[in-house]
Amino acid sequence: MHLVRENLFIGNIGDAAEILQNGSTEITHILSVLSSASISFFSEWRSGLTIPTKEIKKVYVGGSGDVAAPEGHSHDDSKSSLAPQKLLYSLEYAGKDLKLVRMALPIKDMESENLLDYLDPCLDFIDRSRKEGSVLVHCFAGVSRSAAIITAYLMRTEQLSQEDALESLKLSCEFVCPNDGFLEQLKMFEEMGYKVDHASPIYKRFRLKVLGDSYNRGEKIDSSKLGADPGLPAGSSSVLEAPPKEGINRTAYRCKKCRRIVALQENVVDHTPGEGETSFEWNKRRSGNPFNKSSQTECSSVFVEPLRWMTTVEEGGLEGKLSCAHCDARLGYFNWSGIQCSCGSWITPAFQLHKSRVDISTV
Ligand SMILES: [Zn+2]
Ligand SMILES: [Zn+2]
Repeated sequence: MHLVRENLFIGNIGDAAEILQNGSTEITHILSVLSSASISFFSEWRSGLTIPTKEIKKVYVGGSGDVAAPEGHSHDDSKSSLAPQKLLYSLEYAGKDLKLVRMALPIKDMESENLLDYLDPCLDFIDRSRKEGSVLVHCFAGVSRSAAIITAYLMRTEQLSQEDALESLKLSCEFVCPNDGFLEQLKMFEEMGYKVDHASPIYKRFRLKVLGDSYNRGEKIDSSKLGADPGLPAGSSSVLEAPPKEGINRTAYRCKKCRRIVALQENVVDHTPGEGETSFEWNKRRSGNPFNKSSQTECSSVFVEPLRWMTTVEEGGLEGKLSCAHCDARLGYFNWSGIQCSCGSWITPAFQLHKSRVDISTV
């Protein structure tokens, strides 16, 4: 294992197994990031290896202490991208004489894996552990997952960019190499100000991408994966939803025909007008001058998160109409492969409301 900072080490599964089996004079805490949080992962890795453990607690998404409502982030009422009831982490006493404290998180080393939603509990654990002793952060090879988490930790504690934090980590351990998906998420972490802000436009786009990935893998999109219906009275949608905010974000989109609320400003997923692969071509055709930036092309649609009134989405099709839940008026369209806005930008996946079919008002 390699020393990264005082009381902070990075290593692989072999380093962790050695400490868990024989104890350590130095390490008091272990952060395990493997594809399974269970200690049995070590026995499967090396038969004959059994490590005693005593559970402290298990924390699930949506439960208390969940990422969706971490302490100190209480004004953040949007949900995380992890499936409700999924194991977030387990905390246990482990190893020789049960002297070590182990936090374990189930994260796969895949580009599409959601790392972002596990960062807060990991970084808080590293912080606490370094005050009480020394912590080893390990994954299987000590190259991608553990390196990504330590990079995030250095970013947050030393206010470094993703690139600078990774460079700094490489001085301690030259072969670290988080996968590209993790690097992208660390960049979002930087742009959100070293925190995972569920209300940020960056996070909203990430959540939509995670949902699109899960659709593409063939997973069923049921109402639990859709956002609360802003047209229903508060409290009737789901017990998992936080109560609505007071006083802010009161801009609402209503069905032009029956005035039912169909989206709130906080449901909108912003895009930069004219950005996207085909915008160049589109502007050329439209204005005759490809270098004339499209200030005149106003977006004719607003794109939102998928919400529970969009019952056609649950039917499982790749695309379909979005109709008002009250009067059935056609409001827009959805397409998991994306829709091009009138400004030229591609939004993928897309849940589109035509501005001509909705009114903007304040509640
Ligand atoms: Zn647009
Ligand atoms: Zn309507």
